[in-house]
Parts: sequence; structure tokens; C-alpha cells
Amino acid sequence: MSKISRVCVFCGASGQGDKKYQEQAYAVGAALAQAGLAVVYGGSDTGLMGAVANGALEAKGKVIGILPEDLKTQQGWHQGLTETHITKNFFERKKLMAKLSQAFIVLPGGIGTADELFEFMTYTQLEYHDHPILIFNQDNFYDKLIEFLRHVADEKFCSHDDVNNLRVASTVEELIAALHND
Ligand code: AMP
Repeated sequence: MSKISRVCVFCGASGQGDKKYQEQAYAVGAALAQAGLAVVYGGSDTGLMGAVANGALEAKGKVIGILPEDLKTQQGWHQGLTETHITKNFFERKKLMAKLSQAFIVLPGGIGTADELFEFMTYTQLEYHDHPILIFNQDNFYDKLIEFLRHVADEKFCSHDDVNNLRVASTVEELIAALHND
């Protein structure tokens, strides 16, 4: 496993939910920066995505945004990032996220976040990478998803290791500690 210097964060682009989600996303960004880790993420300035970036930037961290071209023209992207990369499409974007990062964190989010979690879990299963995937289970947000994944393993559509390899943390402190849990 390579040393972790950049961490990719997947999280909701929506800011319409309870403010506690944005507050914790901001705290995660700040904690990553304070731990000396750069944040790689989807480049948006909205919702939890904007909050993670702002948390890291305000704690003097580096934030690398990766946006697919078609999305860039449609939605606001963060203007204050350390680096912004524009990719041709969503597929190229995930490839670059994977290339630049040595760990993946999944915060609360919607369908896009779930897509990213499942895609990177698939890459682990296929041994395309061995980077840790961490779930930030803020206020038990992901309990039902983890329960579903255990059901999938019980029914033998994946292994229990596929599920147990996920690192699940309930607080920001646990999350940062779990990054170095080898
Ligand atoms: P969702 O969970 O459906 O809000 O989707 C959020 C995830 O999908 C993020 O981690 C992003 O990588 C990607 N994504 C969705 N919407 C945007 C957006 N407006 N700008 C950049 N990335 C986005």
C-alpha cells in the first residue's frame, strides 16, 4: 500500500438537507488539511462538496478539483481551488481521481456518491487498486447500506471480505485515524 498524501472525497452535491451534513463535511476537509493530506474531489462549490473544499482550504490545505467538461458548463465549480483538472467525461474523471489518490472517503450523499462508492468497491474487488475506502457513517447515515451489503454477502453475491474491507468511522477523529489503520 502506497503512502497516503492525497485523499479523494465523494459526497453530496446538494446542500438542501440538514446543515449538520455540511458542518461535518467542512470538519472533514479541515481535518484532512490539518493531517497534511490534500483533498481530491469533484470540483463543485455546492452542498457537501463545497463544504469539504472550503474546510480544507481554510485550514491551508491543498484541494484538487476534477470536473468533467460537460458538467463544468452546466454547474458552478469552485473558483478557489489549488488545482482544477477538466476531463473529457465522467469515466476519465474517475480514472484521474483514482490515479491521484491513495485513499477514498465517502461522506453522506446521493446517487452520484453511491455510484462512486460502488465503482471503487468494484475496483477493489477486481484488484485494480488496494487503496482503502472509508465510509463516514455520520449519525448512522450508512447503516442501511452496510446492512444491505452484508445481505449481499450472505446471499453469496460478494464476499464478506468485500464488505469488511470498508473502514467505517462515526466521527471525524475516527475517520482520520482509520486512514492510517494498516
Ligand atoms: P450526489 O451524491 O448525487 O449529490 O453526487 C455527488 C457526487 O457525484 C460527487 O462526489 C461528485 O463527484 C459527483 N457530482 C455530482 N454533482 C456534481 C456537480 N454538480 N459537480 C461536480 N461533481 C458532481
